Amino acid sequence: MKKYDIVIAGAGAAGVFMAYELTKIDNNANILMIDRGAPLEKRLCPIKAGRTPKCIKCSPCHIMNGYGGAGTLSDGKYNITTQFGGDLHKYIGEKEAMELMEYVDSVLCSMGGDEAKLFSTANKALRTECLKYDLHLLEAKVRHLGTDRNVRILSKIFDYIKGRVDTLFYTDIEDVRQDEDGFFHVITKDEEFVCEDMILATGRSGSKWVSKICTAFGIEQRKNRVDIGVRVELPAEIFKHITDDVYESKIVYKTKQYGDLVRTFCMNPYGEVVSENTNGIVTVNGHSYADESLLTGNTNFALLVSNSFTEPFEDSNEYGESIARLSNMLGGGVLMQRFGDLVKGRRSSERRMEKCFTVPTLNATAGDLSLVIPKRQLDDIIEMIYALDKIAPGTANEDTLLYGVEVKFYNSKVMVDKNLETSVKGLYALGDGSGVTHSLSQASASGVMVARILAAKYSK
Ligand SMILES: Cc1cc2nc3c(=O)[nH]c(=O)nc-3n(C[C@H](O)[C@H](O)[C@H](O)COP(=O)(O)OP(=O)(O)OC[C@H]3O[C@@H](n4cnc5c(N)ncnc54)[C@H](O)[C@@H]3O)c2cc1C
Repeated sequence: MKKYDIVIAGAGAAGVFMAYELTKIDNNANILMIDRGAPLEKRLCPIKAGRTPKCIKCSPCHIMNGYGGAGTLSDGKYNITTQFGGDLHKYIGEKEAMELMEYVDSVLCSMGGDEAKLFSTANKALRTECLKYDLHLLEAKVRHLGTDRNVRILSKIFDYIKGRVDTLFYTDIEDVRQDEDGFFHVITKDEEFVCEDMILATGRSGSKWVSKICTAFGIEQRKNRVDIGVRVELPAEIFKHITDDVYESKIVYKTKQYGDLVRTFCMNPYGEVVSENTNGIVTVNGHSYADESLLTGNTNFALLVSNSFTEPFEDSNEYGESIARLSNMLGGGVLMQRFGDLVKGRRSSERRMEKCFTVPTLNATAGDLSLVIPKRQLDDIIEMIYALDKIAPGTANEDTLLYGVEVKFYNSKVMVDKNLETSVKGLYALGDGSGVTHSLSQASASGVMVARILAAKYSK
């Protein structure tokens, strides 16, 4: 059994930034980072490689797993804000959370991220324009790296950590146990490792696994919400005046019909819609590149409605999964519908799609989202589209495409203290897998923070 001081489970944003900071700060710790997915150079979605038109449910999914985690093939939008993207500030304080996110940004810049512009929604005329229609623009700074530049930066970070941190890919951690001396045993199919400090940073794809580990250790977890919605795709000109100005606009709207909150999420100017596979369930997402030759003529963004449950049913993730499964059953993957067909109550058939002016960037099945998304959420989404049409005329055009379903699963909140340490000494939970963060910036910041704590513990 090989012994380490620190084992990091998960090489996503949280794990990678933790490894980076532990490399940067002089300390004595032996560190191992394990991930179930592939190393960076082997991460290629078969859809992107042109080997298949539709998601074939690879296990593990290259979009979600591997070096850099779910963020690697993402749009690489680092939002510096506490208004969305997680609750890190509630644990460590607003000032420290913001400082850590600024620090993450400075690291990205030192690796080539400074070529990408930093946008801000602060003090924008857009906010006033939104307010006229009861739309609320959240405040954030965002650096959009683009998928290609994001990959290059992650590669540089890997070069930086590789002599200092041992890494193991294609390795699923099956279990973590603690012996009577307090050491953690990290059990994989072929090997077992022993460590003093164990970091659970397994992201959204590891949510059920983290839950299992926490239950075994008697660590309290609280149910979180699930966001359900669609990905909207339209000609980029419609949102150009907004995306050129602020790049990403997070706009929240309270529907008149139900009083529900609907928000825009993950806006990708000139981007493409992609499918993602979380534990066998195919949902939709989006990204865009920094390289202009790879841009499309469309912009996409998600419209999401939050759902939380109390009793007798409280498993919001199961609710989200059931809806996603239904869409997979009807569409064999992602479903797509023209907005005009949705409001007219009819399916988008292949024939209707042939006349569609908006050219889809994802090969999805034309169908009927009203057979999948519950009425309440669908009404909320339709109302939001008409509200957005006022600040971006054309949003409610017949040929605006809606892809479904987009589901944002939030992991159960693992009970952790201000150091993100659980009630079990030496067992930390960070990043999206802890339910504390839901974004690249905050997940990375959580990794930096715990790295600094452990670097002090193992200082020379
Ligand atoms: C397509 C897409 C686009 C996105 N775009 C953005 C964006 O632009 N901006 C933004 O802020 N956020 C974005 N996100 C969300 C963002 O990627 C996550 O918030 C972030 O990656 C969370 O980091 P993490 O380290 O907590 O988890 P992850 O990045 O999910 O990493 C966790 C890692 O743990 C590994 N793992 C899981 N279980 C095990 C196990 N049992 N054993 C070993 N390894 C395991 C996984 O393989 C994975 O690599 C996007 C997500 C997707 C899927």
